[in-house]
Amino acid sequence: MRFSSTYIPTLKESPSEAEVVSHKLLLRAGMVRKLTSGVYIYLPLGLKALENVQRVVREEMDAAGFSELLMPMVIPGDLWKETGRWEYYGKELLRFKDRNDRDYCLGPTHEEVITDLVRGEVRSYRQLPVRLYQIQTKFRDEIRPRFGLMRGREFVMKDAYSFDSSDAGADESYKLMYDAYCRIFKRLGLRFRAVEADTGSIGGNFSHEFMVLADTGEDTIAACTECSYAANVERAEVVWNGTPCTETCAPYEKVATPAAHTVEEVSAMLKVAPSQVVKTMLFVVDGKTVAVLVRGDREVNDIKLKNLLNATTVELAPAAVVEKVTAAPLGFAGPVGLDVPIYADLELQGATDYVVGANAADAHLVHVDLRRDVKVTAYADLRCITLSDPCPRCGGAIELPKGIEVGHIFKLGTKYSDAMHAVYLDENGKENVMIMGCYGIGVGRLAAAVCEAHHDDYGPIWPKAIAPWQVHLCAVRADNEEVRAFADTLYNTLQEKGVEVIYDDRSVSAGVMFSDADLLGVPLRVIVSPRNLKNGVVELTARDKSFSETAPTAEAADTILAKLAE
Ligand code: ATP
Ligand code: MG
Repeated sequence: MRFSSTYIPTLKESPSEAEVVSHKLLLRAGMVRKLTSGVYIYLPLGLKALENVQRVVREEMDAAGFSELLMPMVIPGDLWKETGRWEYYGKELLRFKDRNDRDYCLGPTHEEVITDLVRGEVRSYRQLPVRLYQIQTKFRDEIRPRFGLMRGREFVMKDAYSFDSSDAGADESYKLMYDAYCRIFKRLGLRFRAVEADTGSIGGNFSHEFMVLADTGEDTIAACTECSYAANVERAEVVWNGTPCTETCAPYEKVATPAAHTVEEVSAMLKVAPSQVVKTMLFVVDGKTVAVLVRGDREVNDIKLKNLLNATTVELAPAAVVEKVTAAPLGFAGPVGLDVPIYADLELQGATDYVVGANAADAHLVHVDLRRDVKVTAYADLRCITLSDPCPRCGGAIELPKGIEVGHIFKLGTKYSDAMHAVYLDENGKENVMIMGCYGIGVGRLAAAVCEAHHDDYGPIWPKAIAPWQVHLCAVRADNEEVRAFADTLYNTLQEKGVEVIYDDRSVSAGVMFSDADLLGVPLRVIVSPRNLKNGVVELTARDKSFSETAPTAEAADTILAKLAE
């Protein structure tokens, strides 16, 4: 491909809208442009990168024995009503009506559609397993689209689904995908980790997320430094090894804490450790207000709350609700006398003599004994794991690296097949429900994650497996006849040998040419210039700076082929 005939609108400066490296570089390299919030146009170079990632994904899906199909993006609402997700999925689901007033949605994921397909086709155990995948555009009306392709509203996903007749078969399907995912991320040169994950709005029995380790990741992983345990902090269990406290304390008293709203302010004013202050957080769970208590130095894990209460929606209570329930301004909520269900974190059982909000402006209660003074509905694991908590499996030390979730696999069990009656007849002619799995990779997010993992100050450094081209041929001073003639011939020779070449034949300065080459991130750069030709050589440099050398002009093509084969 000649640069002069492509459309690659590179930018000198980082656009101010971009916060993370991959977003900046994808914009600067002329790969993507924003159409509207969370919706992107893939320009020719971006499309090439996306297609290359898709090729790797496709190869590994095919190798795992999954067959590709393509489902529609427009889904009848009735299918989603069958599983209850029409209500459950919430605002991320973009719903609309057709001219006959029928409900539809844009597919954010395709369990309903594929289950509908398979239940209509499969009759007998002999037809199972069915293992299918697609690479398709999804739409999720994300509350906070950001970081470019990382969290879009419209994005490309590879989603695969398996239907088995036995639990062991379903586990095998899951293992096939687990292994295929490992191969995909390895081929893209990523440092990644499979971690135990919450099943969220997809549901099912258990799941793993594949996390690319990166400081800019939106997710936090709880990883044991001693055993193989790793989980998303959303899910990581917190083990409480303490014993319930049996002592009590003096009767509680109300004390003035003017303008002390936060745990830090209260603990400083009353000279008690933050761990002796109880944080009372109000949530609206499926429309009902509940209170959650954790130690002042801890954070509530709202996903654990959602799972504990088997709820559809969990939201932090708005100020108006807090003020109504506590009859006090924000910052003074406390559990004593509170007339809502109260859920307390396990470790609060380990002590007494707490400081809590007084449900009155500028006041707290001291000497509170939760057993004596508070109606706790239940104690449960409700907080986020911290560096000082032990590994829930082996007791070892935990670390908390950041990750980008690029893939997520679920053992669904019979959640969808039960709801949608996807059944088959077994050997004895008895009807059974199919056992399902589903498996997603965000293709655009994956491309962005590769960029996040492989770049320098000047641009992306694409691994060979997904680079848009293998060789970037720069004709410096293309107006020089000798340069042009040599570069043209070399370009033709390489193309004949099947090498993917981008040939910069533009009459631009060497500076512009090289900075564009950095932004394109092609692994091998070949520089033809008047000075090089005078010395009888061409220059070969690796985009990752691993080498920079010259080759005699007569051996240029062979040396390039040898370098690519390395
Ligand atoms: P997240 O927690 O990041 O919102 P998710 O758990 O909602 O992800 P899944 O439903 O498991 O995601 O979707 C499968 C894969 O699709 C994810 O692992 C991720 O790579 C990708 N993905 C999900 N949401 C987005 C998005 N908004 N933009 C780009 N890719 C996404
Ligand atoms: Mg999501």
